[in-house]
Amino acid sequence: MILHPRILLHICCAPDSTAVFERLAADYDVVGYFHNPNIHPLEEYVRRAEEAKRVGRILGFTLEPALYAPDAWDRAVAGLENEPETGARCTACFRHNLMAAAAKARELKIYWFTTTLTISPHKSSARIFEIGREAAAAHGVRFLETDFKKKDGFKRSLEMSKELNLYRQNYCGCKYSLRS
Ligand code: SF4
Repeated sequence: MILHPRILLHICCAPDSTAVFERLAADYDVVGYFHNPNIHPLEEYVRRAEEAKRVGRILGFTLEPALYAPDAWDRAVAGLENEPETGARCTACFRHNLMAAAAKARELKIYWFTTTLTISPHKSSARIFEIGREAAAAHGVRFLETDFKKKDGFKRSLEMSKELNLYRQNYCGCKYSLRS
C-alpha cells in the first residue's frame, strides 16, 4: 500500500472541488477546508458549505470544520468595497482565506496546502500563487502551486458538477459581487 502525503485543500465551492480533488487524489491524501467568510448572506454560505460536504461524502474526502466570521472578512477588505471584481478586494479576499488555510494546515501538522481557486478562468493563478507562498511562509508550511484550470480542469469540473447535480452559484460570493 502506497502512503500519500496529506494536503489541506482550501475549497471555495463544491463544483470547483470536484476536478481538483480528482487530480490531487492520485498523489495526496486530501483533507478539505471550506473557509469562506466572504460568502453572503448566511443562507448562501450554509447552502454552499452543505454542498461541499456532500461532494466530500461522494468522492471520499473529509472536511475540517471552519468558522464563519464575516466581520473579520469585512475588516480584511475594508476600504476596498468599491473595487471591481478581480481587483484589489479580491486579492485581500484570497489572502484572508489562504492565510486561514495555511494556519489550519499548520495546526493539523499537514505540510502541504493548496486551493481550488485556480480552477476558475476568472481568477489569476499567478496572483493566487504569490499569496499562497506568502501564507505558507507566514505559517511554516508549503503551498502547492498547481494551476487547476490547465489540462481542461474547468471543463472537467463542469462535467462532474453536472453528473453530481451540484448547485452552481451565479455570483462569486461576497455582498459586493451580489450587487454587481
Ligand atoms: S468578488 Fe469573489 S473573490 Fe472578490 S472579494 Fe468578492 S467573494 Fe472575494
